[in-house]
Amino acid sequence: MSEHHTLSTTLVHAGRKKRFTQGAVNPVVQRASSLVFDTIADKKHCTKNRYKGELFYGRRGTLTHFALQDLMCEMEGGAGCYLYPCGAAAVTNAILSFVETGDHVLMTGAAYEPTQDFCNVILKKMHIDTTYYDPMIGADVAKLVQPNTKVLFLESPSSLTMEVPDIPAIVKAVRAVSPEIVIMIDNTWAGGVLFKALEHGIDISIQAGTKYLVGHSDIMIGTAVANTRTWDKLREHSYLMGQMVDADSAYTTARGIRTLGVRLKQHHESSLKVAKWLSEQPQVKAVYHPALPSCPGHENFKRDFTGASGLFSFELHKRLNDEELSAFMDNFELFTMAYSWGGFESLILCNQAEEIAKIRPGIERKLTGSLIRLHIGFEDTDELIADLQAGFDRIK
Ligand SMILES: *Cc1c(COP(=O)(O)O)cnc(C)c1O
Repeated sequence: MSEHHTLSTTLVHAGRKKRFTQGAVNPVVQRASSLVFDTIADKKHCTKNRYKGELFYGRRGTLTHFALQDLMCEMEGGAGCYLYPCGAAAVTNAILSFVETGDHVLMTGAAYEPTQDFCNVILKKMHIDTTYYDPMIGADVAKLVQPNTKVLFLESPSSLTMEVPDIPAIVKAVRAVSPEIVIMIDNTWAGGVLFKALEHGIDISIQAGTKYLVGHSDIMIGTAVANTRTWDKLREHSYLMGQMVDADSAYTTARGIRTLGVRLKQHHESSLKVAKWLSEQPQVKAVYHPALPSCPGHENFKRDFTGASGLFSFELHKRLNDEELSAFMDNFELFTMAYSWGGFESLILCNQAEEIAKIRPGIERKLTGSLIRLHIGFEDTDELIADLQAGFDRIK
């Protein structure tokens, strides 16, 4: 497709070449390990072009995978997209593709917890050091760059506490010190579209497609869209690590993306409405929704994002004791308690301030009250608000 289409049109039309759809609206589900060659010449051609869309062997993908990769590249503006069995695999393989023993990684101290665990356990085992930086550090992050720093890893907004870093300042400062560093971002919250990572000078945009791309809480997949400079290495290293996703999950992900734009618009509208209501409640100390001024980095959000999604958090004045916590959390009618997010349904989770502190290495900002994280789905917002009001009444 040509480059001039707006996002809504791209989400509908990209990745639907005739070769992928075979005359239907959606791409075929081509389940395959073995792919068949008619002649020696055919086998030779497919082997030579195995990473350029020719059918070679199941682990390199089938037409279903190529369709999704095509769609992702057009959506995020990349040279290539690698597909992984889950978001965590996308994060770890993207990092591993660009480091070796003795190297150094700069990681946001507010990263998704399993990403931190990967650095602390797996990278450490390979004698690769990690320095955690405060997401609000801005250009000063360049002072943390060492001669052996190979990867700068961003996440925006931060997991749980939702700080929005000044990415243009960070990217500019780090590139000035070392143009070679590979800059990657966990771009899951933005669905890869509310923040155009590659347009901001980031090399690789990673998503837990499990969340907004799939959008229905029933499939796990990871994506990494890379620019020209990083694509070959990301692809070949991920391939050597045996990364692959099944055709059915790839198909379902592409189908989810068709409605990504409209879903995100609704997540934005509904989450903002609930967040604004929360900010007026006496038990609430602060609401950390990137589209509200009470969220650290709100100015960065306004400048760099085209909208918000459905996930945010709020801090209570009080640290709820165990009894209060159960009374509050165990009795919601519409909010379900679960990890993950990005589906059509509303979710709730709670973290105590001391639990948050443990997974915030290198960060000054400290919470005192209980932190509640919400994902706002597509239920009626007045009914969601009534459900939350009943929760507050239980801990009066
Ligand atoms: C869920 C999540 C992941 C991991 O994705 P999985 O598909 O569960 O492996 C990574 N980063 C963020 C920000 C997430 O929310």
